[in-house]
Amino acid sequence: MDDYINSSVFAFYKVGPGPSSSHTIGPMKAATLFVERAGKVKFAVPPAALEIRLCGSLAATGVGHGTHRAVAGGLIGMQPETCDTQRLSLLLEDASVYQADFGAFKVDFDRRSILFDKHASCPKFQNTMIFRLLDDNAEPVFAMTIYSIGGGYLAVEGDEEPEEQAPVMVPYRYRDMNGLLRLASKYGISISRLMMENEQAVSGLSEAEINSRLDELIERMDQAVLRGIATEGVLPGPIRLHRKAALFYKSSMNQKQPQDRFLAQLNAWAMAVAEENAAGNLVVTAPTLGSAGILPAILHMLRETRGLDNAKLRDGLLTAAAIGMIARRNASISGAEVGCQGEVGVASAMAAAMLGGVNNASSAIIECAAEIALEHHLGLTCDPVCGYVQIPCIERNAVGTITAYNAYILASVGNPLYHKVSFDEVVAAMLETGRRMCPELKETSRGGLAVCSLCE
Ligand code: SF4
Repeated sequence: MDDYINSSVFAFYKVGPGPSSSHTIGPMKAATLFVERAGKVKFAVPPAALEIRLCGSLAATGVGHGTHRAVAGGLIGMQPETCDTQRLSLLLEDASVYQADFGAFKVDFDRRSILFDKHASCPKFQNTMIFRLLDDNAEPVFAMTIYSIGGGYLAVEGDEEPEEQAPVMVPYRYRDMNGLLRLASKYGISISRLMMENEQAVSGLSEAEINSRLDELIERMDQAVLRGIATEGVLPGPIRLHRKAALFYKSSMNQKQPQDRFLAQLNAWAMAVAEENAAGNLVVTAPTLGSAGILPAILHMLRETRGLDNAKLRDGLLTAAAIGMIARRNASISGAEVGCQGEVGVASAMAAAMLGGVNNASSAIIECAAEIALEHHLGLTCDPVCGYVQIPCIERNAVGTITAYNAYILASVGNPLYHKVSFDEVVAAMLETGRRMCPELKETSRGGLAVCSLCE
């Protein structure tokens, strides 16, 4: 099977608990997969215990990213999209004993069973999880190594294909933006139409069913905006960071200049979702949870100030997905791999493309908008303070949203034919920049802003 892009839009936009898709959604799904696969093994004597080692960035960010709780949630049967986030936030808080149900046998575990292994080397991928079942002598009888590769996606050591790579023939085969643009031009269709037809092949759903699922995602995103601008208080963790979106939104109404009011509201909507994410509530990966505020802020703006209906917003969401999938295939959307350029940078590029998609812009303008947005995030490090997805992440979502808006203006008001750098080139530059970035600046909370005086 050739390696063209054939994953589902619904594997890309995932609902799950904050604050980080690679540290919460991925590990929760990994724990579920471990239970599922181990449950199929025939053991002469049922295993007595389990041990899970969280390595690399998963260990470095520690409790701040909530990975231990996400794993515990997966072991006891929680699913990212439906989990009770209140209950999830309390897991492993005390010495309670939990039970993982493998079908033919059950295994007790508690907070000592899930270890942050800061010394393990992770030659293949930064977010590595080692799941083991142990016998009475604490010897392993079954083990799985699973990588959380960004945006809630997984790769399993020994499996040939990444989990979402369905062996499906899609009508439009492309690997990068150049290929996508060629197909759109050859068949005279928009990027959103091309994505819709590919999605029908991948998911087996009808167009009406896909539309209905996209509408659900739009509602989820919008609800997160509305919850965020209605909630005040302090976010979890040692920083004691006050939520700002609600106050910011109220204050935006007092701005005398309409352009100031517009920008203030756009900022508030982005921070609203980022704060919901930081609080561990359910949001949608776009492309990750850390960067989940940008697309919803633009969607909400298009609804609220432009009165756009869901038909248009769906086009925007599909166009944005094309950008995110290309960035993911040819570089990475993981802060642990390429820094925040792969999260907020890609989200900003997706949102800039979305603005093109809803405005019926040409494919050339859409590419140009996405390129500009990503280009000006190149080099952006991932250095969450104290390991919590709060500083700089929440305001960074706001800044990424405004950049997306401006990138679309730069692309659409000017002449895209004068544009010199392609989206594919900037994606390649992002990968190269990420590779050269030192590990301290890639979601380990060991450098940059992460070691500021707040954590002392
Ligand atoms: S700095 Fe960026 S990539 Fe890192 S956790 Fe925050 S939002 Fe995610």
